[in-house]
Amino acid sequence: MENRKPYQLVSREWKPEDTVIELNGVKIGESLMMVAGPCAIENEEQIFTISEFLSKLGIKFLRGGAYKPRTSPYSFQGLKTEGLVLMRKAADHFGMAVVTEIMSMDKLDELCEYADMLQVGTRNMQNYPLLRALGKINKPILLKRGMSSTIEEWLLAAEYILAGGNSKVVLCERGIRTFENATRNTLDLSAVALVKELSHLPVIVDPSQATGVRNLVPPMSVAAIAAGADGLIVEVHNQPAEALSDGEQSLYLDQFADMLNPLRQAAKIHNKVFDFDLPKVNSNAFAN
Ligand code: PEP
Ligand code: MN
Repeated sequence: MENRKPYQLVSREWKPEDTVIELNGVKIGESLMMVAGPCAIENEEQIFTISEFLSKLGIKFLRGGAYKPRTSPYSFQGLKTEGLVLMRKAADHFGMAVVTEIMSMDKLDELCEYADMLQVGTRNMQNYPLLRALGKINKPILLKRGMSSTIEEWLLAAEYILAGGNSKVVLCERGIRTFENATRNTLDLSAVALVKELSHLPVIVDPSQATGVRNLVPPMSVAAIAAGADGLIVEVHNQPAEALSDGEQSLYLDQFADMLNPLRQAAKIHNKVFDFDLPKVNSNAFAN
């Protein structure tokens, strides 16, 4: 039968086996990935406190925005270069990888210098020149779903990156716009199960942007893993009430730690293990 799908390289028909992306000792797509950290880097004490706590739990991927896409031009826009420097310093200190957002092409060189994985935010999912530029680099990309994008549009956005030559793409469902306004967005978990059928790419979930409500993050995280997600990206903060962005959806540090056991249970449904339960890579292991 003719393949009527408008995308090709991202499809299961093109590549039946799951894509596995290696980063910081983790085989993303094989082990479940946990990315955690603040919405935005705010100062040295904040990022060191959070990353120290996370690294003690075995978390290997540190998130945090340095260039923040804010709805209002008057909101905190991120520490920019200073934020990248602080995040890199903390990540290196605690053996973590840096995941941070790229908002525009003119920052590509700078972000490649500081980050290990570049996040394309919901507002930029259809920034085609940016997607094409990311197709030309050799770093994994975290491609969020546009808040009003269909699954097909999302997969076509990923196709831009693969078509450019970069096949290291992790998809991220982060909630979509619906009539419901009790939550910030509506988490579309059916998209996770469907995209796992349609595509070989890993799919993770962002329950923080999806709900906008701190106490909904643990149950939706467990639900995402039960639905077959390949991991999570979660906002945590040492002082959520003081956060310069997204404090109301950021978990307290202890709340994040408490969620790991239920997540381990959910992972067992699929015979999977989270990366935080894998031994830490010793970068000197092969040195002599
Ligand atoms: C974020 O991760 O802080 C963020 C801005 O995400 P999104 O693009 O999904 O809104
Ligand atoms: Mn945020």
